[in-house]
Amino acid sequence: MPIRLLPSEVASQIAAGEVIERPASVVKELVENALDAGASQVSIAIEAAGRVLVEVGDDGGGIPATELALAVERHATSKLSSAADLFQIRTLGFRGEALASIGSVSRLAITSRLPELDRGARIVVAGGQAGAVQPAGAPAGTLVRVEDLFYNVPARLKFLKSDAAERRQIDALVTRYALAYPQVRFQLRQEGRPALQTSGDGNRRAILAALYGVDAARAMLEVIAADERLEITGFISPPSLTRSHRREMLFFVNRRPVQDAALSAALAQAYHTLLMVGRYPLAALFLEMPPEEVDVNVHPTKAEVRFRDPQRLFSAVQRAARRALLAHTPVQGLELGERRWEGLPGERGGAGAAWQVDWAMAQAEADQPQAQPQAAAPPQAAVTPLPPPILRLVGQAASAYLVAEGPDGLYLVDQHAAHERVLFEKMMAQRAASGGEALPGQALLQAAAVSLPPGSARLLEGQFDLLARLGFQVEAFGPGTFLVRSVPALLAAMEPAAALQVLVEDFEEDETPLQAQVEARIIARVCKRAAVKAGRALSAEEQRALLDDLLRCASPRTCPHGRPTMIHLSIDVLERQFGRRGAR
Ligand code: ADP
Ligand code: MG
Repeated sequence: MPIRLLPSEVASQIAAGEVIERPASVVKELVENALDAGASQVSIAIEAAGRVLVEVGDDGGGIPATELALAVERHATSKLSSAADLFQIRTLGFRGEALASIGSVSRLAITSRLPELDRGARIVVAGGQAGAVQPAGAPAGTLVRVEDLFYNVPARLKFLKSDAAERRQIDALVTRYALAYPQVRFQLRQEGRPALQTSGDGNRRAILAALYGVDAARAMLEVIAADERLEITGFISPPSLTRSHRREMLFFVNRRPVQDAALSAALAQAYHTLLMVGRYPLAALFLEMPPEEVDVNVHPTKAEVRFRDPQRLFSAVQRAARRALLAHTPVQGLELGERRWEGLPGERGGAGAAWQVDWAMAQAEADQPQAQPQAAAPPQAAVTPLPPPILRLVGQAASAYLVAEGPDGLYLVDQHAAHERVLFEKMMAQRAASGGEALPGQALLQAAAVSLPPGSARLLEGQFDLLARLGFQVEAFGPGTFLVRSVPALLAAMEPAAALQVLVEDFEEDETPLQAQVEARIIARVCKRAAVKAGRALSAEEQRALLDDLLRCASPRTCPHGRPTMIHLSIDVLERQFGRRGAR
């Protein structure tokens, strides 16, 4: 084929593809425009997951009627005038592409009125063809309606995910901007139902509650650190609050949500030794720096940025987070353990030689290849699966550990981890016995209504079959609310709301629920929540029953998440510690 210039509609569709990939991209661009216009209120309405309608209204500065036609042209912007400005960007937009892109793949209508005028104007664009600007009555500010997204690019439509997934992306996106701009009132309605509403009172923790639920939001630790060129504020989760994925580590640079693997890694590093492998913190961290320190013009969607001095930034994030964590947990078990291994006086065999602590990691790995305890693995960890010891109960210590004696020394059993293991194996056995049918459920005398934050609620919708297989009978009951009618028989003692929350908080975005592993993982989560907590004094019978149950397990040495259930102090270790060894 000879070389020729592409027809302009084709060229603009290609360009649009870079910026507008899915309904959430439209929401992103329109919300950014509203925020750049100084809005104090942004209302978003979504129909059919954004395929039929995305509408964003604001009370910002508006677009003069004389500029409306230009606003929908490509490379037309009021936010930038020279190349030098590119390194002084203080607005979210600057490329002048969004409205043109949206106009070329949808039916777009913009109605706008400057606050100081009493009449506004409207322009309509369909498939890239702009109509004439017409006068229009309108409230002060701008209302943008985007209908029939991708109606003229059917190939794009095929790449969209399920409605539920697209809606979730929109929820997540709007929540992010709401977090970044807590003094702006956001209202998001999806299919006519409220999905997010913020008050605009500047309280970020309240917005976190919409994201994580009230308890988690309350538990988040505050981060504050600043020097003359960098300010870090926001929230990170305590080590007890984690996810199985990195997606809830949110970073904002000059209030722009950004994705940056190195920043996530820096934050995860701050938790070094505090979290299990495969677990990640939640965070919403806001980095403020002079605009020349960051290049935002790296990517059409502006989701990635480049830092002038990344090293300095990462270590600052790490230090700020570490400080918040240490303030919260002055002495942390694993760290202390590590230090002791290296630091015990009089050890000849080097690090850890005196402490033959059996973390039973090999067993954990053999059981479930994905779960291993983090970093603190002592070098001499056992490498072959061990048979369960035969133990005699001695008692309970610190309302958290069972103390037991075996032929080869002393065992400390973590009651919570042990109970987790016991419940897990019982549930898995029941599942196997049912031949893959549903686990027995226990009907609640009174169905419990459970409300979840919008993101979680969406995850749960459409998973009722999976829940039924696990013994949960759940049905929808109004927006964000569910009725729990039965819970798995083994978990009958647990609060239905707590059980349900555990299920959703870790649901993976693309999890295909009816897979055996996913079920096992969900069962493991539920057991964790249902297991007896540290801090509860157990009666002698309870202690004995727990120990017996544990020893009957197929993998008694680790909890379903791979942490050790027991620590072994061998006679050998005891003798050395008491200085009896050398004497003989
Ligand atoms: P950019 O945001 O990169 O400048 P857009 O295509 O998103 O490019 O918007 C083009 C221009 O239209 C903006 O520079 C701005 O002047 C104007 N504009 C768009 N949306 C709004 C809005 N909600 N309120 C006021 N002005 C707007
Ligand atoms: Mg823009």
